[in-house]
Amino acid sequence: MSEWGAIEKGGEAVSAWEFRSHYLTYGDKYEEFFCPFCDIRLVAYLIYTEGEISKSPHFAARSEKHLFGCDGNPVGVSALEYKLPKSRYCPRNMHAPEMLIDRRPPRTSYSKPSESGMKHPSSSDVFERRQNASFLGKAIPRTHLLQSIVEVHNIVIREIYKQAIERKWSDAKRNDEINKALGTLPLQLKDKTNYRDAFRRTLFLNWLYPRIYHGYGFVEISQEGTYFIQSHTDGKVKGEYKPFKIMVFTDVGYESPNSHLALLKQIINLAKNKQECRWYAYGKPEVQSDAIIVTIQNLDHIYLKIKFHQ
Ligand SMILES: [Zn+2]
Repeated sequence: MSEWGAIEKGGEAVSAWEFRSHYLTYGDKYEEFFCPFCDIRLVAYLIYTEGEISKSPHFAARSEKHLFGCDGNPVGVSALEYKLPKSRYCPRNMHAPEMLIDRRPPRTSYSKPSESGMKHPSSSDVFERRQNASFLGKAIPRTHLLQSIVEVHNIVIREIYKQAIERKWSDAKRNDEINKALGTLPLQLKDKTNYRDAFRRTLFLNWLYPRIYHGYGFVEISQEGTYFIQSHTDGKVKGEYKPFKIMVFTDVGYESPNSHLALLKQIINLAKNKQECRWYAYGKPEVQSDAIIVTIQNLDHIYLKIKFHQ
């Protein structure tokens, strides 16, 4: 099981989460995957799953074995992961995006076939490719899509809830283990943080750096015709409670990715049906007249669900 794949032999190494993010955004689907280091064929799991997934997407070697000591990962990455003080209760084999990046434009191809991709790679080619992938932080799994980060967060919570039932933990012990597990998963936003610190309820605002705020609410339309989510819970500024709102600029046109069109439809329906939603929004709060506002300009940075599955 590994997290890197290429869509052709000798092609660029792309993480399973990034393939998933591109699938959810554009509907990009590739038939074949190869190990980006030793060129064997790989099978993809959970990349093309609609809806929230319960395990991380990954690749596995099925019909062939990795060559020349390759394990499907850049050199040093498995060892590095091993050294991280991961929570004992973090799901096993968990891969998580560690960086939220700006979306790259849609691509018909992820890679230019390199010359070495034309022939079978030698032992030193394989080592070199794995080593190059570790340099310059290239090996950090990244995503442009808030949904992928939320999926990881919820996979960890769901898994620890399961263990809490099996091990008959108190609520306090369970919450403590959730916090520990999320705290050990690094996440780079505009600053370096982790999955615990990144996710905030509306009372715990970070005024300096964007964070992922979440809660429940209803979609409404402002007098100017802008959609916004009115959170059930307030925010707090200088000791004073104020309504918390997410303004969503749904600037969607024919060039927009499929996911933005789908999101706009979802927002319109939620408003029309006055249906409660579970919302996640990435941004920095601002105080505007009598409310605390997070403004969403990039629709990759909001994720809505009708129901929350713990
Ligand atoms: Zn390989």
